[in-house]
Amino acid sequence: MTESSLLEPHDLPARWRHKRVFTLVDTRFTTSFFLAAWQSWRDDDARCERLHVVAIAPLDALDEAPSNHASPLADELARAWPMRVPGMHRLEFDAGRVVLTLAVGDDAHALISSLWLRADAFRVDMTDADRTDDPRRLCKALARLAGDGALVRIRAREPMHAPLRRALEASGFEVTANAAAPDALSARFAPRWRVRRHEPPLACDTRTREAIVIGAGLAGCAVSSRLAARGWRVTLIDRHALPARDASGNPAGVFHPIVWRDDSVAARLTRAGFLDALHRWRALEAAGHDLHRSDAGLLQIADTPEDADALAAAIARFDYPHGYVQPMTRAEASAMAGIAVARGGWFFPHGGAISPAAVCAAQLAAGAGRIATRMNTEVARIAHDGHVWQTFDAHGNEIASAPVMVLANAHDAARLAGLYGQPTRIVRGQLSVLGASALDALRVPVIGEGYAVPMGARGTLIGATYDIDDSSSEIRDAGHVENMERLEGMLPGLSLTPGEVRQGRVAFRCVTSDRMPMIGQLADESAARRDAHRLSGAWPLDLPRMPGLFGAFAFGSRGLIWATLAAELIASKIEGEPWPIERDLAESIDPARFLLRALRHADFGPA
Ligand SMILES: Cc1cc2nc3c(=O)[nH]c(=O)nc-3n(C[C@H](O)[C@H](O)[C@H](O)COP(=O)(O)OP(=O)(O)OC[C@H]3O[C@@H](n4cnc5c(N)ncnc54)[C@H](O)[C@@H]3O)c2cc1C
Repeated sequence: MTESSLLEPHDLPARWRHKRVFTLVDTRFTTSFFLAAWQSWRDDDARCERLHVVAIAPLDALDEAPSNHASPLADELARAWPMRVPGMHRLEFDAGRVVLTLAVGDDAHALISSLWLRADAFRVDMTDADRTDDPRRLCKALARLAGDGALVRIRAREPMHAPLRRALEASGFEVTANAAAPDALSARFAPRWRVRRHEPPLACDTRTREAIVIGAGLAGCAVSSRLAARGWRVTLIDRHALPARDASGNPAGVFHPIVWRDDSVAARLTRAGFLDALHRWRALEAAGHDLHRSDAGLLQIADTPEDADALAAAIARFDYPHGYVQPMTRAEASAMAGIAVARGGWFFPHGGAISPAAVCAAQLAAGAGRIATRMNTEVARIAHDGHVWQTFDAHGNEIASAPVMVLANAHDAARLAGLYGQPTRIVRGQLSVLGASALDALRVPVIGEGYAVPMGARGTLIGATYDIDDSSSEIRDAGHVENMERLEGMLPGLSLTPGEVRQGRVAFRCVTSDRMPMIGQLADESAARRDAHRLSGAWPLDLPRMPGLFGAFAFGSRGLIWATLAAELIASKIEGEPWPIERDLAESIDPARFLLRALRHADFGPA
């Protein structure tokens, strides 16, 4: 099939011309279709600003990068090909203006249901389907995602046409006659009555692409950079003189996904965050930024021998590739670490340690020209005047205003937004930096009950204490001793002394009660409160939201793997683009989840 014949049924390139975003959904990833769309987009002078292709693919499709398409674009696709793990993978090309999101797994129906986007075109291949397949489920799923006038092209064998036609019509599509293609049906989304409970996502209604981001740590710098990459002008406000001074100012931090006995929400979400962070950091490094990222992997020591065995079995059961995670016996782990370890564990070849401040600096440099920083500036209050969000200092003077605002200021975000029920707490953490010590033999960052990060000439970073609701910034000897004891539990031959501590640092994590971050659009709590009875059985999409007000905070002990994913999710929501993660995952970090629970349990206290 030629390139143009692949795109013709979708009336492309005509339909994407002069649009900000155009979204094509392919229900079974086909390399030739993606490459045809990408090439045609490149060749079109009047192309849309961003082309999204969202495609469903079975896990086996990731076994090998597509190799039978000799072209420079195919080579680029092969170089970006993701690791063979389930979930959603976002690949970006042409400076991020062509985006391929692969939704990978073995249940195609579940994957389509987990997407959240507004589609302009669907390509569906049902040639393998037989009469027992029920097309109604598929057509309903398409209708949930279809934008106005979205075109659908379904390849199917003739006996499927009649049930498909009925299913399409029942879901709000108008089937168009297509004598030229007897093996396919074409349809247009044109519902004559309301066919869905929630409208698919739209861009924030703003005349200008201007945003305020409060907080210049990992969260705020990542959000600023993702918005700047989409052409937004960002005012980034922080009370310190320089970015990355609070929690994001630690000398190094470790990063790795959670791997557990089941593929829980935490396992899936940390996998998505880990892979997204790697992708963004590699792009910054390729542009010449030094992030001080270690490159020898990261070792996790199990808490018990039983955990080590169970995890080894789970890694085999999930068939995780070696590049993602490898089980380690105690002997293997000791050889890997360069120091005897207490138990076996598992190894992340692409995990490691990185400088959070270097990440922040690189993101701001990459967005230079679009990000204006306002340092030494504390926001005392925010308000919405019906059109824009305003920020005020303690004297009531306006600092800046914009139609979109992102609260990326950790524990202070809940105060500024006036969130119900104080959903976040602080957890004090003390780190210790050791000078010359037995830990100099350590070859890779090691984590478990505590962690140790070799930093070359700067010594070894060990940590960290976990002191809930303790707001003291004083560095304590007891904290250093605690850090050493944690480490000695993992690396039993060690004998460290307080005299080896060269330096200490205290910072504060911001956590929620379910230990998941707060990422997304904030709810309009006053409106929800007024409507509490009707909303007692509400879904996240039913809640009234604050126009243009988003949050990226409560990253707990995992800021490094949450920050870039949070930024991409928020930027996608603001621009009305396909979400980069599954809907259930986005709901598990929705900042409105505590409000939703309160509404469900009629536990909505006094104002
Ligand atoms: C001891 C310790 C060890 C850690 N180790 C790791 C690790 O190994 N790996 C990992 O991934 N994570 C680790 N973390 C967690 C990680 O540091 C955080 O999750 C991350 O830095 C949070 O980033 P943030 O941008 O949300 O918050 P912060 O870095 O705290 O930034 C918030 C910013 O908001 C600003 N701000 C707040 N209120 C206002 C206001 N009203 N007006 C203006 N500015 C305001 C602050 O000045 C600050 O710069 C650790 C944390 C601690 C404390």
